[in-house]
Amino acid sequence: MTDALEPMPTDWQRALAVVAHPDDLEYGCASAIAAWTDAGKEVAYVLVTRGEAGIDTLDPAKAGPLREREQRASAAVVGVTRVEFLGHPDGVIEYGPALRRDLAAAIRRHRPELVVTINHHDTWGGTMWNTPDHRAVGRATLDAASDAGNRWIFPDAGPEPWNGVRWVAVAASPYPTHAVDVSATLERGVRSLLEHRSYIEALTEEEPEAYCRGFLEGIAERAGERFGGRPAVTFELFAR
Ligand SMILES: [Zn+2]
Repeated sequence: MTDALEPMPTDWQRALAVVAHPDDLEYGCASAIAAWTDAGKEVAYVLVTRGEAGIDTLDPAKAGPLREREQRASAAVVGVTRVEFLGHPDGVIEYGPALRRDLAAAIRRHRPELVVTINHHDTWGGTMWNTPDHRAVGRATLDAASDAGNRWIFPDAGPEPWNGVRWVAVAASPYPTHAVDVSATLERGVRSLLEHRSYIEALTEEEPEAYCRGFLEGIAERAGERFGGRPAVTFELFAR
């Protein structure tokens, strides 16, 4: 686990980030996205759900629209204005052809070279069990990167086939291979996570900004131990 991480590729222009819930990207990855948009790259988000089952004290009918607004605000902090919601049910996303079809259509619409998604493994490392939504979306996104390029798979999903995805980068993987230096953008990552205020206030007694900063600085610092001591965001990179 002490092997050095490689720098993420930079020879691309368009990325699409596909995750299950509002806040999935903000728990680390958004600082890397800010570094990419600062460098002039285009990044769009696709959220498979609105995260309506994420706040114990709030009815899903109210939580869904609220979390959608918070997600759009947190995307804007890191320079992302294209944010789509696919409207699958939070907590019970089903892995299968219907999900792969929706994600292939999204990839055909956005034509990314880099696709980013969330940890698809069973655990976050050790015995910290991952959620079924993350596993389903991560795996279906890895699959859809290929599906999108095959005109005979889901032929009526989205526009023309797009076979231009060169990498799928899995955020928060317990098996990272690559990293992005976030020295200059970690603070925007903190502000991006802080936009999920209703969720965070329901989650922790801690003061929200201290909670966001503590969490993100901690993981960036641990990642940096394998990346020249610089605060970093890690990815497990699958090349195609
Ligand atoms: Zn999530």
